[in-house]
Amino acid sequence: LLENKVAIITGAGSGIGKATAELFAKEGAKVVVSDINEAHGNSAVDEIKKEGGEAFYIKADSSKPEENEALVKKTLEKYGALDIAVNNAGIGGPLAATGEYPIDGWQQVININLSGVFYGLRYQIPAMLEKGGSIINIASILGSTGTKFSPAYVAAKHGVVGLTKAAALEYADKKIRINSVGPGYIKTPLVVSSLDKTALNALVGLHPIGRLGESEEIAELILWLASSKSSFVTGSYYPADGGYLAQ
Ligand code: NAD
Repeated sequence: LLENKVAIITGAGSGIGKATAELFAKEGAKVVVSDINEAHGNSAVDEIKKEGGEAFYIKADSSKPEENEALVKKTLEKYGALDIAVNNAGIGGPLAATGEYPIDGWQQVININLSGVFYGLRYQIPAMLEKGGSIINIASILGSTGTKFSPAYVAAKHGVVGLTKAAALEYADKKIRINSVGPGYIKTPLVVSSLDKTALNALVGLHPIGRLGESEEIAELILWLASSKSSFVTGSYYPADGGYLAQ
């Protein structure tokens, strides 16, 4: 579906980003695997190459505007174009009630999960103006509903959904489509490493489908949004949540 397309994926060293990078490469894309974690980024590239795909690691911290600018510049130098971007890098942040939430934790989550997506768009869009493109921002079910003890995460993800709509309107007539995705809880290090067995079981119970999601299941939705199969879709928010939001 993505033969010869050039795609940047942030946070592609792990979880949903890594699964997306692998799927894009299988579909023929040249994949820029970007991640702040060099070891994870490089091993994702090695795995893609082992399967016969094309990928290249570029280190970038999504929360820094100048590193987003450099990421796009280096991508254009390496592959000569930018057709697809997946703004996926994100963290969970501290768990605490709003009245006690650590100020530095708030700032870190907003900087990476919300400002990071804006900085991505800020430099990806100009690179797509000539040919058009597709941008997918990874929000969450918590981009359209709340939960206790993660105020920064919930605020950032609602922000990503809104930013996606605003930017999509501006570039709809320039052939740049911009959409967001809202995963339910997915079995990735972000979720599994922060919770014990009881808490994980409680999370499963929130999904009518009776299990957590797999990164590959989110990657399939991202692939559809990245490809021309979704050519009439822009400004939309797509949950993939095992029924979580239907309740
Ligand atoms: P993950 O922890 O497995 O992977 C995230 C990757 O982002 C890591 O490789 C990490 O090194 C990288 N990263 C972190 N901060 C960065 C920064 N400042 N700059 C560049 N890279 C950075 O997480 P995941 O579960 O795959 O999450 C990916 C995205 O999906 C996040 O935006 C997350 O909020 C969202 N999401 C996850 C779930 C879930 O249940 N796992 C649910 C909804 C949304």
